[in-house]
Amino acid sequence: MRRLLLFVALAALVVAGAVWVADRPGHIAIRWQGWRVDTSVAILLVVTAALALAFALGLRFLGWFVRIPRRWRAWSRERRRRRGYQSLTLGMVAVAAGDPDEATRQARRADVLLDEPPLTMLLSAQAAQLNGDEAAARRYFTAMLDRRETEFLGLRGLLMQAMRAGDSEAALELARRARRLRPDTPWVLTTLFELETRAGQWRGAEAVLAEAQRRRVLPAAEARHRRAAVLLEQARAAEADDRPRDAGDFASRAHDEDRAFAPATAAYVRLLGVNGRQRKAERVAEKAWPLAPHPEVVAAYVGLAPTADPVDAARRVDRLVAGAPDHVESRMAQAVAALRAGLWGEARQKLEAVIAERPSSRAYALMAEVEEGESDDPLTAQKWLRLAADAPPSEAWTCGSCGTVQPAWTIACPACGAVDGLRWQMPTAAPMLPKPEAA
Ligand SMILES: [Zn+2]
Repeated sequence: MRRLLLFVALAALVVAGAVWVADRPGHIAIRWQGWRVDTSVAILLVVTAALALAFALGLRFLGWFVRIPRRWRAWSRERRRRRGYQSLTLGMVAVAAGDPDEATRQARRADVLLDEPPLTMLLSAQAAQLNGDEAAARRYFTAMLDRRETEFLGLRGLLMQAMRAGDSEAALELARRARRLRPDTPWVLTTLFELETRAGQWRGAEAVLAEAQRRRVLPAAEARHRRAAVLLEQARAAEADDRPRDAGDFASRAHDEDRAFAPATAAYVRLLGVNGRQRKAERVAEKAWPLAPHPEVVAAYVGLAPTADPVDAARRVDRLVAGAPDHVESRMAQAVAALRAGLWGEARQKLEAVIAERPSSRAYALMAEVEEGESDDPLTAQKWLRLAADAPPSEAWTCGSCGTVQPAWTIACPACGAVDGLRWQMPTAAPMLPKPEAA
């Protein structure tokens, strides 16, 4: 609309000019170097306008001509860049497909074609790793540390290398540096927690855990359970260090964080006893039992008041499990105590209930003991022992990562180092045997 108005205004101006000139006729004569031109003012104006137009067009053409080399250079740069990115893409596809030769070839091409070291260095490092050249990969990762935009990627590469090589000290340092750089990256926080834990750096582990919870990297319940685990390890360290009061404080906090975490409950109950607070220990255990029914809690509770009278001990177990009398662990604990006291009928009744709900080799083996103790009948006892051999194994501290069974709970699996991997459960598979070499 505005253009149209401009055009109309311009046309009006030209017409007005033409009329103005036509109204004032005149004659112009030019004489120059033996040339002579006689013409009217109108023609001269038209010729002058035509000459100006031709001059402007000529200048434009000249400019276009002069800019040809520059345009050629820009075009070839663009083409180079495009081919470079294509190589980068193909290289990354090769890495994903696990083709080391192609990845290396494309990485070199991308490096030559592209002036983007951050991108090509990562591809080169990955290609080197695919080729099994960890030293070259480390060089690339280390070079990436010098540039702000690639520092984090370089750290991640070096961290993964250190963890694979089992160099936990270097891994811990790298993970701490990665956290300073990007404190809100979930894998940095979870990895750092595991490394601090494996190194026994409990304060560091607690701090990372708090941060992970604050940034919602871990669900609240999971974070609380892990804090309980770290606190329990601190309680154990303090006790080993002959500081039973500190140990008791740590165990108390661990128990508060996760009431269903039986090792913490057992440690708290036992340490209350060590610190001379039997009555409180008993109250804590009785209250905790429905949430944390576990043989370790039974042992801690019974250990509070060692008695020479096994019947007395059996009555104490009855008091402990009163909060959850029908739980299979309650019945198992009562059966074991009754067995020790020679209360055969009671032991048999509890074991029958256990076997009906959750048959296990341990329950059958205890039943065999009852038969032997009560009726001195080796044949019936053998029947129960045969059943025990075929029954599913009893629950034990089993690593969810490597499947090994451990005699006691620890925060890191002694076999594979998995953090918070041990669960009180039925061992799921036979321990893994090394695979025979393929022929
Ligand atoms: Zn393990």
